[in-house]
Amino acid sequence: MSETAPLLDVDDVGVSYGRARVLSGVSLTVRPGEVVGVVGETGSGKTTLVRAVVGLVSPDAGRITFDGTDVTALGGRPLRGFRRTGAVQLVFQDPLRSLDPDLTVAAIVAEGLAIAGGLTRAEQAERVDEALTRVGLDPSLGARRPGQISGGQRQRVALARAIAVRPKLLLCDEPVSALDSSSRNRVLLLLDRLRRELGVAIVMISHDLTSLAGVVDRVAVLFGGRLVEQGPVDEVFGDPRHPYTALLVASAPSIGERPLGRPAASLRPARDREPWPHADGCRYAPLCPFATAECAVEPRREATGDGRTVACHHAGTWSDHVEQTTGALT
Ligand code: SF4
Repeated sequence: MSETAPLLDVDDVGVSYGRARVLSGVSLTVRPGEVVGVVGETGSGKTTLVRAVVGLVSPDAGRITFDGTDVTALGGRPLRGFRRTGAVQLVFQDPLRSLDPDLTVAAIVAEGLAIAGGLTRAEQAERVDEALTRVGLDPSLGARRPGQISGGQRQRVALARAIAVRPKLLLCDEPVSALDSSSRNRVLLLLDRLRRELGVAIVMISHDLTSLAGVVDRVAVLFGGRLVEQGPVDEVFGDPRHPYTALLVASAPSIGERPLGRPAASLRPARDREPWPHADGCRYAPLCPFATAECAVEPRREATGDGRTVACHHAGTWSDHVEQTTGALT
């Protein structure tokens, strides 16, 4: 898979809203059929990243290439044309808000097909039935409205709408966080099946590591609009090298079959630590229990030789520095 050209190539992208820098130097690739997780808390920039990929937000630095098209260079009609192809599909967290309550399920699933054009009504109806069946729904459900079906079914309808246009990439923004645990597992299994059966690549945005653990091939961790660690999921979750990733992993006990050997508490800043005195440098430093004077300079992303990159001056070796941190911040 590593030999395949990327389907999506996000290269050193930066986005600002007014004076607020919400993404900075973000690079990420997704290959055909690959599932990549993007993890981060609210405000980490993960939704902005998704919006930039579909051209809803214009980066002020870097480039986003999808299937050979420079998305960042598109505007006006060419951008509308790119969206109309449906090659990139968004699936949102709350399907009740993203599905028109007045339309039937069949009409909702047909929306993208109508926009893309080129199909007769009969062909559209066939594709709708096929998409509903693929996501495990009986096509007879097509006559109902979103308010008449369950939350799990609504998320399946959102997925059916997305796959009906035969996309190459699904961008799923917190696709299961509004669901109860059994619906969540079923939707995660469904995403895995869609990837295998359709060869569609998937980017799954989530604040919840547990929902990503069994599904994604690679994972990228965002903090403060920067990518702090990315790589194969087993390496990143099994042996995190960035202190923030380590805190996330230690705080998600259900992926603790790969024990970290550190309780989450030891990865949070001690209450009596002196405040971080620098305005620049590593964004995580004000929270990092392992910050040293060196961290006043922003760390660059470095490859660690096992397929991942980490942006931390003390990647994976913080324990060696922890004794030195007291009194070493100024
Ligand atoms: S660079 Fe320093 S402050 Fe930033 S995460 Fe690494 S150890 Fe912590």
